[in-house]
Amino acid sequence: MEADLVVIGGGSGGLAAAKEAARLGAKVVCFDYVEPSPQGSKWGLGGTCVNVGCIPKIIMHNSAKLGQLMDHSAAPLGWSGTDGLTFVWQDLVKTVQLYIKQLNFSYRRGLRSAGVEYINAKATLLAAPERAQSGAKSGRVVEYTLKGERKEVRAKCVLVAVGGRPYIPRDVPGAVELAVTSDDLFSLSREPKKTLVVGASYIALECAGFLTHLRYDVTVCVRSIVLRGFDRQCAEHIQLVMKEQGTKFLEHEQVVSLQRVGEPDVAASDLAGDRGADTTSNTTADGGDKILVRFASGREEMFDTVVYAVGRRACTQSLGCEAAGIAMHPASGKIVVDELEQTSAPGVYAIGDVCHGRPELTPVAIKAGELLARRLFGGANEPMVYTNIPTVVFTPIEYGCCGLSEEDAITRYGQDNIEVFLFGFNSVPVSACHWKKALSTRKDEFDLDVTPLNLSKIICKKPDNKIVGYHCIAMNAGETTQGYALALKCGLTKDDLDAVVGIHPTDAESFHSMTITRRSGESFMAAGGCGGGKCG
Ligand code: FAD
Ligand code: NDP
Repeated sequence: MEADLVVIGGGSGGLAAAKEAARLGAKVVCFDYVEPSPQGSKWGLGGTCVNVGCIPKIIMHNSAKLGQLMDHSAAPLGWSGTDGLTFVWQDLVKTVQLYIKQLNFSYRRGLRSAGVEYINAKATLLAAPERAQSGAKSGRVVEYTLKGERKEVRAKCVLVAVGGRPYIPRDVPGAVELAVTSDDLFSLSREPKKTLVVGASYIALECAGFLTHLRYDVTVCVRSIVLRGFDRQCAEHIQLVMKEQGTKFLEHEQVVSLQRVGEPDVAASDLAGDRGADTTSNTTADGGDKILVRFASGREEMFDTVVYAVGRRACTQSLGCEAAGIAMHPASGKIVVDELEQTSAPGVYAIGDVCHGRPELTPVAIKAGELLARRLFGGANEPMVYTNIPTVVFTPIEYGCCGLSEEDAITRYGQDNIEVFLFGFNSVPVSACHWKKALSTRKDEFDLDVTPLNLSKIICKKPDNKIVGYHCIAMNAGETTQGYALALKCGLTKDDLDAVVGIHPTDAESFHSMTITRRSGESFMAAGGCGGGKCG
């Protein structure tokens, strides 16, 4: 078979590039193949986002927000009898999985109507010598096996968009066998119940957040800090809010072993012996399926579910990259690309999560794929711009940001050349309903009300006060952050924000009346009043 473009990977980036190239008249073949997770989870066309990422996550996030509102706001807002409502995990999973199946189907239909040939097989790039033997005069050759038969496609160019998969450290006894990852959680047929989440970035905190508000007992094991790379003040605010809402955190802690209760524990007792910890305690018959987790500090605790969210690894292991001459980054194991998504192998491009140094976000993979297709087949020359990409962490209070963190702004411009404006407050529905702290974080019986949930923060570069960092912690920050990202792209300044009339009563209006700078040392927490506004 011959093609203009072979796309390896039918996820966010690969599908977007395949459809755009076909629209521009190219003959396109797209491969997608899912390796089952160690726990046996597998799924259909569409890649990480639709099957085990953004889409199932946002449905669970919304279920969690409902739980949060029911726990804190339903009764004061006049809804009685909500105590009678029960949450059924399996019903949520059913809704999530049915929706994913619809999307899998519509993605297949989308490829068909775009004229892209879809092959459900694992593709491998052929090495140069094999390529010569196969008779290809130019371009690249990709091989695959379908129904036991080995086949080839020759293409003018190849796009690698194979994404990544969660990683579980092999040096933690029991982890690979007993832990689940985000590949399994959204289709888990049993309730997660008491859960340990290992890791402290996007995936860990989002999973911990939604599980907490689905009313499970959740602990996060943090090796160093939460949300590395994000604005520190905002990351710490998110952690505080999560704590006050009931998520527990074990800080500067690491897991050393997992053991299903009742099983012999040779590896773990060796490890614990080294540390001098008592391995006999807590291993009592406390429910057949429980997992005993041992930590580096010597702590031991039983959990029903352990979710590992300690990062992802690119799916390049059996792709034939080395033989095909594709340079990989030695530290990340990801493909090195230039600003036009070109790898070191002529005719081979890469986009999305598989690329070194690119943000691992769906719209990034999609846009990079569409722009590449236009450059290859549409005579365009527009490159993908990787700066000022907005993102949101859904915990389930949402942290949206675009541009620089305060730390990065200081490093880039110097402390004296930036001004930071801050405003902390509670949105009206939260303060009117007097949301309460989780019992575990109350200092005493009078310590009830939550710390203001909202934090609005902008970082301006002097002297024109151009905004170089936008940070918003709010119930619906995802929606507002998109609009501010557009404004940042258009060169937004503090004067522009001040010149805009706010919409009252919203959280977003806080950005249009900010007066307290970090430099002033004044408190930036609203004394009372009305959410993001200035009345009262
Ligand atoms: P993928 O979507 O991973 O697609 C790659 C495809 O290639 C997969 O189907 C894979 O099985 C297949 N493949 C691999 N090797 C081969 C081969 N040899 N042959 C054929 N096929 C192969 N991003 C956001 O923007 N917002 C969010 O809210 C968000 N939430 C997330 C939540 C979770 C839990 C996770 C895990 C990720 C989330 N992301 C989110 C990130 C987002 O899902 C990814 O950035 C995006 O899916 C990357 O797209 P991609 O095209 O690079 O790869
Ligand atoms: P990250 O690579 O962002 O973070 C990994 C986390 O695991 C860090 O907290 C790290 O801690 C910790 N960690 C790493 N190794 C270990 C270990 N051996 N033991 C204990 N902890 C460890 O990975 P994620 O899986 O959270 O996210 C991957 C990407 O997916 C994100 O970068 C994001 O782009 C994308 N995503 C986007 C979402 C969104 O848009 N809302 C949601 C979810 C994912 P340390 O800081 O100490 O290294």
